[in-house]
Amino acid sequence: MIQTKGYAAQNEKTPLAPWTFERREVGPHDVQFDITYCGVCHSDLHQIRNEWFPGIFPMVPGHEIVGRVIKVGDHVKNFKVGDIAAVGCMVDSCQECENCKRDLEQYCLQGNSPTYNGLEQDGKTPTYGGYSNTIVVREEFVLHVSEKLNLAAVAPLLCAGITTYSPLRHWKVGKGHKLGVVGLGGLGHMGVKFGVAFGADVTVLSTSPKKEKDAKALGAQHFLVTTDKAQVKAAKNSFDFILDTVSADHDFNLYLDLLKTDGTMICVGVPSKPAEIAAFSIIAGRKSLAGSSIGGIAETQEMLDFCAEHNIVSDIEMIDIKDIQTAYDRMVKGDVRYRFVIDMATLK
Ligand SMILES: [Zn+2]
Ligand SMILES: [Zn+2]
Repeated sequence: MIQTKGYAAQNEKTPLAPWTFERREVGPHDVQFDITYCGVCHSDLHQIRNEWFPGIFPMVPGHEIVGRVIKVGDHVKNFKVGDIAAVGCMVDSCQECENCKRDLEQYCLQGNSPTYNGLEQDGKTPTYGGYSNTIVVREEFVLHVSEKLNLAAVAPLLCAGITTYSPLRHWKVGKGHKLGVVGLGGLGHMGVKFGVAFGADVTVLSTSPKKEKDAKALGAQHFLVTTDKAQVKAAKNSFDFILDTVSADHDFNLYLDLLKTDGTMICVGVPSKPAEIAAFSIIAGRKSLAGSSIGGIAETQEMLDFCAEHNIVSDIEMIDIKDIQTAYDRMVKGDVRYRFVIDMATLK
């Protein structure tokens, strides 16, 4: 077994603290890489606090992982020692079901193996995430990253990036479309970057007028303050698509009203309470309310390649792992531009 250092929550009430654990030896189809950077996703906090479902403890969070390959199994074809490698929100799936065969491992009918707070496909071995010094993952779930990008700023692409890229591609959002992006956090700022890169006319919808400058700096053409009744009224029936990235509880009906006839609102955030949808919000204008979860492995690679080609990365603030609690406190307040990334060299 491989001795691994990480930061773990021992239960839902304790803060993260150093913890040593074991990862499996590198099997014939496995890639081992030393982690250089790991993004801090809002879901890390939801999960260590048991806000979504009862978690598996001790829990080592982190699913925006970038590093350098140090060992590969005998049958590994696509990676060699020294390559830059990345892992996102899943480390395995059944590889046989209808969805896995369509490159939609995120919707594996047997259940994929999440990178942490989940189980390997054997149904019993817990998975541990990227707030750690090294990781072993089967080759099919490891991604290639271009050397020319800022690797720390690549890390958030593995969750925040693919979570916004995948739905915009699936619904073919691009030239001639008016896209609204709700929320300007880790997900939202990537939604703006991809929307703009795909040629859509992008509006950021936010409760805070203070974010207008930031939204425009990220490339959004317009900004709408959703607490301003006159602005909301003027924007009714104007969007082809709305990408809702907010994980706090909020009123979906307000945004559905802003869609054009046949428009689609796509939810990628995960509020803890169920939303109340008025039937009139969708029947008036034949509107669709949809959802999307991360992206498949092939699509995640496509996204990373697209980012390398168009020089797109996340806007980040790098932190020392010892400051993770402060980062969480700031993240809850929305006080981060736009993703914290842990410099794993600080894990001693
Ligand atoms: Zn995430
Ligand atoms: Zn499957």
